[in-house]
Amino acid sequence: MIAPLTLEQLQRRFGGELINGSVTFDRVCTDTRKLDERALFVALVGENFDAHDFAAELEGKVLGLVVEREIPGVSLPQWRVEDTTVALGQIGLLCREQFEGPVIAITGSCGKTTVKEMLSAIFSQRHKVCVTQGNLNNQFGLPMTLFGLTPEHEVLILEMGANGPDDIGYLCGIGKPQITAVNNVMPAHVEGFGSVDGIAAAKGQIYTSLAGGSTAVINADEDYTRYWLSQMPEEVNTLAVGLGHDCAVHADNIVLDERGCPGFDLVIDEVAHPVQLQLLGEHNVHNALVAAGCALAAGIPALEIASGLAMAGSVGGRLQVHTGLGGETVIDDSYNANPGSVAAAIELLAQRQGKKILVLGDMAELGADAERMHREMGELARDRGLDALFTLGPLGMAASVAFAEGTGKPRHNFREHRALVEALKRELDENTTVLVKGSRSARMERVVQALTEGA
Ligand code: ATP
Ligand code: UDP
Ligand code: MG
Repeated sequence: MIAPLTLEQLQRRFGGELINGSVTFDRVCTDTRKLDERALFVALVGENFDAHDFAAELEGKVLGLVVEREIPGVSLPQWRVEDTTVALGQIGLLCREQFEGPVIAITGSCGKTTVKEMLSAIFSQRHKVCVTQGNLNNQFGLPMTLFGLTPEHEVLILEMGANGPDDIGYLCGIGKPQITAVNNVMPAHVEGFGSVDGIAAAKGQIYTSLAGGSTAVINADEDYTRYWLSQMPEEVNTLAVGLGHDCAVHADNIVLDERGCPGFDLVIDEVAHPVQLQLLGEHNVHNALVAAGCALAAGIPALEIASGLAMAGSVGGRLQVHTGLGGETVIDDSYNANPGSVAAAIELLAQRQGKKILVLGDMAELGADAERMHREMGELARDRGLDALFTLGPLGMAASVAFAEGTGKPRHNFREHRALVEALKRELDENTTVLVKGSRSARMERVVQALTEGA
């Protein structure tokens, strides 16, 4: 925190009831397994535990409590509220309001963490950055990021994820960003939104929440650009990024190097700055453009944006390259999957030399169209000339069938990791690239581990 807060301050601003007086605190904790005696404890109610059940034993171990029901028999100051998750956000908001530097927020179906890391690489060259750690991008993670603000920080970079139609609006109410971008819209987590249009509207709240004088960075290569522009609040500046030469920030002359990492000219104000990314896949050019637009809006010079992008490294489980025990190249993209990111992965694989194998675990949360989308991924892998497709899970069967159709290639669909790995190993040699991908729930990192460590 930049400055300490008091329970009284919170109660005056947001209501609720103070029990046993107020207390001053400068840190927050939510887990009795990681206590800090100088912290305020917020009792969250989760799927597995209700932290109120542990609160009676916290006397002397924390400074005070935020609770939905009074904890009897403790003398700790308590702020009683309707909903402790909302209270966590309200504490986050007060931390945010102590910060005076620029605040950037990114949402989108995929690439949020990648864009956030690119922004962090750009700003870290000359500034002290406070940035979402890992993937802490929801109603719990975002306040945690805000609690981490200190007086040294000069810029705040937030990743915002959405599972439902109002999540981004809620997160913007806490993070109050002044520069925002929707990286892209793809059918990911469709179940919570009803349709892809629903996703576009939900993500668009990152623009509709902006106050006058803020900047909306718009990915002009997206289908929903016009829709978002039509929704833009008055006096919000817009900055278009994309492949089109009419965009304020655009990319030209994209060439993949021998690793498959794109290089391109980053064109800003009609001046071209060469950039060689250290990240695999052409889709990262789009991520880089969105990051560049946000950094430009925050006043970072073009040259510095280009040098920062060139330093951005890959994030665990997102297209990381390893060498397998049999000498094959293993590209670990096991972190997550949806049709958009699988298509990007197929494209990347298609451009490699030698034998190309995609290992795909089921994509989750796709709603009623799940089977069709798996079939389409199988067709795309076939049409792009991949040599083999190994799938894991019941939906993968649809992809395997589509892949095999017309090529006469065998189907490789499996129900468990071990069997898949055993069969896969027979296909591998030094000339092979295996790209491993799947939804989080598919736990495809087990395949990567088996190939690289033999575990
Ligand atoms: P989450 O919703 O889980 O937080 P995210 O939006 O933060 O995901 P990343 O973690 O950056 O996204 O990347 C997730 C996956 O999407 C990776 O497999 C990555 O290779 C792929 N990906 C990243 N950017 C794009 C893009 N612009 N288009 C298609 N696929 C992408
Ligand atoms: N919790 C705790 N002590 C425990 C177990 C859980 O303080 O021994 C807290 C936990 O940190 C969380 C809340 O109780 O804030 C709800 O826990 P749950 O496991 O349901 O949520 P999750 O694990 O998803 O955070
Ligand atoms: Mg993420």
